[in-house]
Amino acid sequence: MNSDSSSQTPQTAAHSAAFRRMGVYRFLAILILPILLLLCGTCFLLVSQLADIEQVADDINQEHLPGILSSQRTLINIENIRREIFILYTANNPVMRRNARISALALASESVVDPESALAGTAGRVDALIRNLGEATTRSHRIADTLHTEELNFAHLYEQLRVRAGVPSSLDSLHNVYHLSPEDEIGQSEPRLAEARALLEPIQELCRNSPSHNEKIQHDCRRFQDSWDTLTASWQDYVSSDAEARALWTELDALLRKLSDDASSIEAGLTYSNMEHIRAEAQKARISLIIALLLLIGGQIAFVAVVHHFILSPIALASRTLRKIYYGLSANAVPPVRIRELQDLLDLLPSLSHHLAELNARSGLMEKEKERYASLSMHDALTGVYNRRSFDEELARAKHSGALALLMLDVDFFKLYNDTCGHQAGDAALVAVAHAMERSLLRGTDKVFRYGGEEFAVLLPNTTEQAAETVAERIRRNVRALALPHPKSSTDSILTVSIGVALRSCDDSMDEAALIRHADEALYHAKSHGRDQVCLYRPEGGQAPQA
Ligand code: GH3
Ligand code: MG
Ligand code: MG
Repeated sequence: MNSDSSSQTPQTAAHSAAFRRMGVYRFLAILILPILLLLCGTCFLLVSQLADIEQVADDINQEHLPGILSSQRTLINIENIRREIFILYTANNPVMRRNARISALALASESVVDPESALAGTAGRVDALIRNLGEATTRSHRIADTLHTEELNFAHLYEQLRVRAGVPSSLDSLHNVYHLSPEDEIGQSEPRLAEARALLEPIQELCRNSPSHNEKIQHDCRRFQDSWDTLTASWQDYVSSDAEARALWTELDALLRKLSDDASSIEAGLTYSNMEHIRAEAQKARISLIIALLLLIGGQIAFVAVVHHFILSPIALASRTLRKIYYGLSANAVPPVRIRELQDLLDLLPSLSHHLAELNARSGLMEKEKERYASLSMHDALTGVYNRRSFDEELARAKHSGALALLMLDVDFFKLYNDTCGHQAGDAALVAVAHAMERSLLRGTDKVFRYGGEEFAVLLPNTTEQAAETVAERIRRNVRALALPHPKSSTDSILTVSIGVALRSCDDSMDEAALIRHADEALYHAKSHGRDQVCLYRPEGGQAPQA
């Protein structure tokens, strides 16, 4: 143990130098912390981008939406202004024209155009153009009224001279220029004027050829000519004023159409840019989420790989090593790991293996010791044959096992032997006698017991009377064959034994005490009849020494 630990110390120190170990909690914290930070970062990013989207929506609601609505109202106003200026230009009724002008000016003033935008300059011109158009149409209609009066006057003079010239009535189309000059016929005013001139030709002919003394005709002709000159001048005024009004209306209408188109483009652009902004924010959030998810998945895979490498693999290795140790196999050296607690466990494995081997060895020794003590408890310490305890147990076991022969053996004059040869020699003689007895038994089931002192017993299971006597005689002879000198014995000069034989047959219900008593009686008989002999117990009283 000590040598092992001393050899591991430098190794452990080297591992410590190369390996900075950490506790499992710190290890897991180091692994989990980046993932948690990544998760928090992702959440923060998402929340901030959702807040951006919300902000854009708020901006649209609070800033852009009013602008869009105002822009839409402006567009509607522009269309209404166009309708009103059309009425202003075309209406014959002065009240309608006046109302149209006021409505157009009101609509123009309530239309909101961003002063910073390019439309501001254009919008500023609308008001002035409406006013100019109003004035031009008023002037045109005033000139038309004058023309109408001049026409009536001219028509009156024409009628007077026509009758004198004998020209049939044909001036209906000239009767009221005002009605003859609707806006779609203005372009045709010159041909109509030429046509009128042609109709006037007969009247002019009358005036040229009229006699100079006819004052009345001359006066009417001068008035007719003056009226005609005034009428044509008024006609020209009317045509030019109407053209001016038309040009103003055309310009204003084109301007309003352009304003409408530009405002529509600006509104569409504004809406599109807002949508673009929301779309960009949503795309940014989506990309961030995908990147964060990829990083999280990567982090999780790395986490599992690191945990597997640094925790699960060493645990599996330790488990395999423990299993090997459990089955008594030699365990390989376990490589160092970064987790301190796990390394502490792995460091215990070699000593655990050593302790287990030691325990196994001790357990084997103890088993042998146990067997030895068990054997000692059943054998006699001096002679090695079974002791008295074994004899009692064996006899009890053989109670119901059928026929049994018991031989009781006593060394003759052994006290004398001790006294003569000494106790050590006496011990040696007992050992020699016991071995001679064992050598005399041929079956594995026959056993020799030291009954006590210099007395021995032999149990012969399933033995007939004759066989028992034969075995007893063989023992007696073998002891004699030892030829241990016993000079003081009155039987012989060598050590001898006396043997009493008793039997219990299969159907006999004799108990152990009776069997022993019978064998003792037979032994006593052998002793009392000269020793160095075998005597068989006879139930009828007479013991039968063997011949
Ligand atoms: P007998 O022929 O009538 O049997 O006479 P014995 O002397 O053999 O009988 P006794 O009972 O008078 O003496 C037995 C002697 O055996 C006494 C004792 O000293 C001796 N003895 C008993 N056990 C041992 C032993 O373990 N070792 C030795 N050396 N002597 C023993
Ligand atoms: Mg005795
Ligand atoms: Mg004796």
